[in-house]
Amino acid sequence: MTHTLNNLTYCIHTFGCQMNKHDSERIAGMLEALGAYAVESIEEADVVVFMTCCVREAADTRLYGQVASMKNIPLRDGTPLNKRVIAVGGCIGQRDGDKLIETLPHLDIVFGTHNLASLPQLITDTLEEGGHHVEVKEASLSFPTDLPTSREHEWAAWLPITIGCNNFCTYCIVPYVRGREKSRTIEDIKQEAQRYVDAGVKEITLLGQNVNSYGRDLYGEPRFADILRSVNDTGIERLRFATSHPKDLTDEVISLFGTLPSLMPALHLPVQSGSNRILDAMNRRYTKEHYLGLVKKLRQINPEIALSTDIIVGFPGETEEDFMDTYNLVKEVGYTQVFTFIYSKREGTPAAAMVDDTPREVIQDRFDRLVELVQEQAYRENQKDLGKTIDVLVEGASKRDANLICAKSPKNVTVHAPLPEGIAIEDIVGTILKVHIDKAKTWYLSGQVVSL
Ligand code: SF4
Repeated sequence: MTHTLNNLTYCIHTFGCQMNKHDSERIAGMLEALGAYAVESIEEADVVVFMTCCVREAADTRLYGQVASMKNIPLRDGTPLNKRVIAVGGCIGQRDGDKLIETLPHLDIVFGTHNLASLPQLITDTLEEGGHHVEVKEASLSFPTDLPTSREHEWAAWLPITIGCNNFCTYCIVPYVRGREKSRTIEDIKQEAQRYVDAGVKEITLLGQNVNSYGRDLYGEPRFADILRSVNDTGIERLRFATSHPKDLTDEVISLFGTLPSLMPALHLPVQSGSNRILDAMNRRYTKEHYLGLVKKLRQINPEIALSTDIIVGFPGETEEDFMDTYNLVKEVGYTQVFTFIYSKREGTPAAAMVDDTPREVIQDRFDRLVELVQEQAYRENQKDLGKTIDVLVEGASKRDANLICAKSPKNVTVHAPLPEGIAIEDIVGTILKVHIDKAKTWYLSGQVVSL
């Protein structure tokens, strides 16, 4: 039985994707349900949880470094504990298990991606018995639906609809650490979405490694388009989703960008490369032509749709010609945002065994050229909103200026506007305002509030 964590403080450090951030919200919900309360810094925390990601080498190295440095951080004043409890979960916990404890002996708990619900018990076992506690299940039998959640923002919610992935892109570790894809039932998803709407949430983002293959493991094989329609019917104002695999994006889902009022005109569609040879080596299972065909259909449905993508530069064997295929594809599509990554080898993936002999300077030069193009494009795409009055969802004050509203446009671009006189930011956080855009920069728009 799990005991209370009354009066203990906790802090969660999250690395990686939205799925990890959502897992952290669930952990926060569980710890708060047992009486613990959140603090900002590790120094003030009795329980420190690292939610990890091993998709990129940088996060991996940071995690090991940060946990190692915990040894030297004194306990907070007034703590009832004589030792801080340190836990590592998420992808690195799943992948490394006991090995983490061997490398970092002051670590108390390791839990895998399928063991979120066990964390409170593992913490109480540590408090009562001391010692190390490791729980890493190979797979979940079903979707873990019933965990409480403590959301970062009252007005926005992430709603996972699938976990795991069946795609095995050759560079990616996710299928090995998150397991095979499992979908949640439509009923479950609808109920959770309705609870959020009833609680005043304005924006829901549906989450999955590949939301487009939703439902293939369920009886009757419901489709992702069914989920979009069902969540729209709850009365949510803004609906988004991530991530979308181009090979599974259907015409039915594309058509919803023209008909579902809540579906925002923004789609993250990771292309990874514009070279068919590299796409094949990545096991992406689509071609550049197929991808460009999707873009054409999306723009026919909504010429205003904002597209963003992920690109890996320097995949093993990438030639200048392959890179130029990517460069030209980016030029042709015109993205509002591109997340560019230099290829980083992940042990245990097929790509790790591929010959990777392109000099580092060559890859860096390609990366820099691409980033320059992406910036030009983002600037150009943002100019299209100049002079328009758009609805923005207020997220808070700008970090640099407390008198400036920071909000998000329907296309998911940051919008700044001076706080109207006599209005406190707390009164408008989470509301949708109309802003007239009078300036468009590379990474943000700015304007004046025209109605509250
Ligand atoms: S679709 Fe590919 S890149 Fe995305 S999580 Fe699955 S294996 Fe990884």
